[in-house]
Amino acid sequence: QKKGSKLKCSNDFETTDGVPFKLMANIEFEAELNNASKSGSQGVGLLRTEGLLFGKRVRNSPDEQQEFYEHIVEGIEGPVTIRLFDIGGDKNARRPHKETNPFLGWRGIRLLLDEKKLLRSQLQAILTVAGKNPGRVKILVPMVSVIDEVREIRNEIEKVQGALLSSGVDIDENIPLGLMVEVPSVALSAYQFAREIDFMSIGSNDLTQYTLAVDRGNDRIHTLFQHYHPSVLKLIKMTVDGAKKADVEVSVCGELAGDEIGAACLFGFGIKELSMVPSSVPKINELLCSKSAEEFIKLADHAIELSSSEELEQLYGEWK
Ligand code: PEP
Ligand code: MG
Repeated sequence: QKKGSKLKCSNDFETTDGVPFKLMANIEFEAELNNASKSGSQGVGLLRTEGLLFGKRVRNSPDEQQEFYEHIVEGIEGPVTIRLFDIGGDKNARRPHKETNPFLGWRGIRLLLDEKKLLRSQLQAILTVAGKNPGRVKILVPMVSVIDEVREIRNEIEKVQGALLSSGVDIDENIPLGLMVEVPSVALSAYQFAREIDFMSIGSNDLTQYTLAVDRGNDRIHTLFQHYHPSVLKLIKMTVDGAKKADVEVSVCGELAGDEIGAACLFGFGIKELSMVPSSVPKINELLCSKSAEEFIKLADHAIELSSSEELEQLYGEWK
């Protein structure tokens, strides 16, 4: 455990029977680094980067981006998973055409593959920082829905790496490439996707939205946005099973990971890495180090057989 961390369990990052887990931080800005370190998190599991493109302080040139990624990597211990720009949906898309269904439209990887200049400048900045810090940086691709997107992005990464090498810049040849599991098509064919990448990170916020056909930002229907819904849990379990067959690790970086009921079930499904807002790390650590792995597995096995979110809340109350 790191100096200055605020964890209280005697067996931090381990269940009572000694099964280890990792708790990581979701961050977006340098100002959050301090909280991420103090929370006891073991690295950054999700660095959102869209904030570089919008708002008051736009920093989108390759040099500005590189400086930002460097600050983050140097400012915290452990691995840093950098997610490519996830523009679109509710995230300030500067789109030329108004879309009727922006959440089903031009967002994430779909937009990046059409906007090669933007994509390549981000890849150049990330890959340069990764070359200076080998083994520390991972790349995460948002909003994947078909396998060609994965193949195309890998191709782009190889091209940018080739260009860096020929201009004398060091690269991390083994930089891990992962995809976000946010669309049911990826969860349902997890094995086929997992075979082509190095890790998977479940975005439970979008996975819930796309599974239940509920706009995550629409207040009128917010009671239908149920991330404990048994169908969401089943898709998560399918992802874990498919990835396991391909020997690929799965983590979760959506809000479910920082939620007690969610974290207990996710760990029970066999997910050993959870990434969350830094303030949730101590409470989730305390929860996961309070019982044996077997007890979490029992809860998760039962949870997946239920018919509704309410039933899971009730089950959790009795289990806890
Ligand atoms: C998610 O969808 O769960 C996720 C982590 O991504 P974002 O919330 O940034 O869409
Ligand atoms: Mg998302």
